[in-house]
Amino acid sequence: MTSNVITKQSFLTVAGKRFHYIWLRDNCLCPQCSHPTSFQKLYEISDRTSPPEPLSWEEEDGELRITWNEDPPHHSRFPVSWLLSHAYDEESEPGRTNQQPESASQSNEILWDKAWIEANISRLQEALVSDPQLWLNQLFTVGFTVLHNIESKDLQPMLESIGPIYSSDYGLFAPSKTTKEGKDLAETGKGMSFHTDYTYWHTPPLLTSLYCLENAASGGESLIIDGFRVVNDFRQQHPDYFELLTQTPIQFKQVYTKWEYFYCRTQPILELDNSGKVTRINFANSHSYSWKLPFDQMEKFYAAYTTFFSYLKNPIYQYCFSLEPGDLLLMNDSRIMHGRQPFTGNRHLEIACISWDFLQARQRFHQYQHLYVDR
Ligand SMILES: [Zn+2]
Repeated sequence: MTSNVITKQSFLTVAGKRFHYIWLRDNCLCPQCSHPTSFQKLYEISDRTSPPEPLSWEEEDGELRITWNEDPPHHSRFPVSWLLSHAYDEESEPGRTNQQPESASQSNEILWDKAWIEANISRLQEALVSDPQLWLNQLFTVGFTVLHNIESKDLQPMLESIGPIYSSDYGLFAPSKTTKEGKDLAETGKGMSFHTDYTYWHTPPLLTSLYCLENAASGGESLIIDGFRVVNDFRQQHPDYFELLTQTPIQFKQVYTKWEYFYCRTQPILELDNSGKVTRINFANSHSYSWKLPFDQMEKFYAAYTTFFSYLKNPIYQYCFSLEPGDLLLMNDSRIMHGRQPFTGNRHLEIACISWDFLQARQRFHQYQHLYVDR
């Protein structure tokens, strides 16, 4: 059977960008279709019995006005600036990818190593508590920030200005200081190798906060590395190992006898998004024991695991510094891997975390609020 269907044009072009009729109708900004204060969609495209089609349209005074072929005719108005901010027509500008809100705050990521930190340390140290935009930006570009001279009474309100603090078995703040029977390695004076936090817990991606209350210890320097930078090198030099670490689910475990909890979470060490970019590193040697993998995969997996682990120990990636009382280290826990040197003496840190969603949402809000205020 031959088809004689004549394909009608199904889009219109505004400022060089094409927009499908169906997309425009679905995204109508009128108060009947889009709730005016919550911006949530009221219109349901699936209620239509035929594809949307304009009776007429015009572009005037910076606005696209469409009258739709409906009974009664429906009227849509789109500010051209709004349309351009939401344009999805890549073909009209080859090679240019439209920046979507989803990825906007990741776009200026800087992958760093020790040499980069040494060359940029004075700029990094400019982050002040009084300038949240500056330290929030640092969290997005380099994945961490260190703030100084914070009084302990100001810590909780400051963190809560970003979003609610995540509650764990310890409450809002978990102490990291030596105790007689440490429930966690963090409560001993032992050194800790590079890790991300809560690998054994089904948490969202987190912002980790380490606040120094007291440091009368010798040793105990903080060590951080840019996990994304390390993974980048590891991926180029060992593509097969990289693939294994993205595809092999392993179990991360933590037992707390005091609270009668045995946590276990299973996921690959390296999590990727749809485009193949690493979005989250799950790595903590202290929580990685008695894995169950198919017998004939175990040795191959260990080869990949130990190779990646040895990358983390390479000093070219490591930034080492001391946290003094009043210092606050904030880190993207999906990206920045942290550890510490062993110490003797008294040292007291308070650890808290906040869902990374709140940071992304705050950043995105400031980036895109004009689209919601002016429309
Ligand atoms: Zn409408």
